[in-house]
Amino acid sequence: MSAAVMVDVRGVHKSFGRLDVLRGVDLQVAAGSVTVILGPSGSGKSTLLRAVNHLEKPDRGHVAIDGEPIGYRYTGGKLRERPEREVLRRRTGIGFVFQNFHLFPHLTVLENIVEAPVHVLKRPRAKARSSALELLARVGLAEHADAYPGRLSGGQQQRVAIARALALEPKVLLLDEPTSALDPELVGEVLDVIRDLARTGTTMIVVTHEIGFAREVADTVVFMDGGVVVEQGPPAEILDRPRHERTRAFLSKVL
Ligand code: ADP
Ligand code: MG
Repeated sequence: MSAAVMVDVRGVHKSFGRLDVLRGVDLQVAAGSVTVILGPSGSGKSTLLRAVNHLEKPDRGHVAIDGEPIGYRYTGGKLRERPEREVLRRRTGIGFVFQNFHLFPHLTVLENIVEAPVHVLKRPRAKARSSALELLARVGLAEHADAYPGRLSGGQQQRVAIARALALEPKVLLLDEPTSALDPELVGEVLDVIRDLARTGTTMIVVTHEIGFAREVADTVVFMDGGVVVEQGPPAEILDRPRHERTRAFLSKVL
């Protein structure tokens, strides 16, 4: 039995000026699975995540979420670009967690989470609040609902950012180096939350240098270099028996 493909990246190219950052990336992510992307700095990992939700529009190739192309639609048998407002609506089905949290500093923790469901999904505020409190309990921060982000540690802020992303009930959650900005002693609490999401079947793509976490949680490890997927497979295969010299060289530096 093979699970449905939730994220389907086909032949995606992206250049900035003369710099070819993505040079034909293919990636399929099964519903309910966790994909970890590894690769050296500048290899295109962030650009790929941003292309998945069309924060970067691919120059060539397509991205489909749950079978629906995000930037295009078929009309009259032809592939046409979607209007921006349709892209925006589709993007709400994709959660994004950034390295630097990006919380709204002037809103409380609870307000940070309630904002999007109320304004984007048009949820009644009372319902959005009760869901937000459940999410905060899930990330272990129920008692901080009324605090401002500036009062929290980096690890706590990142857990709020994850709860905020989940409040839009995304089909897939993208996390771009979610622990890279944290002091080492705070990394574990954020990885624990991600681990819990994995256990309950959240589809995720995680860019991280945490190899131990990749080994334990990932269904698929993808190694990127120079704007292409060099190799991908189960963690034991890619981390312990990489086939490509570039993967071996990278792993020898981070392990
Ligand atoms: P990674 O996340 O693997 O470190 P990125 O996807 O952030 O790599 O970047 C890949 C390359 O693309 C880098 O050389 C970076 O400087 C360049 N790049 C990324 N975004 C832009 C942009 N908006 N304009 C110009 N260059 C960019
Ligand atoms: Mg990056």
